Amino acid sequence: MEKKREIPIEIDEHFKLFGKEPWEVDYGEKCVICNVRIDEYGFCSCGSSGD
Ligand SMILES: [Zn+2]
Repeated sequence: MEKKREIPIEIDEHFKLFGKEPWEVDYGEKCVICNVRIDEYGFCSCGSSGD
């Protein structure tokens, strides 16, 4: 499946970091600190993972 890569570099960083696009990552519950969904790697915006 080919995807057009027309995404900003800051989002592309996610791909470089995790090997998949942000929308392909499975997200879990929202972090209680930053209110961003914690992804399957346990990362959120603030990095606390809800701790
Ligand atoms: Zn957070």
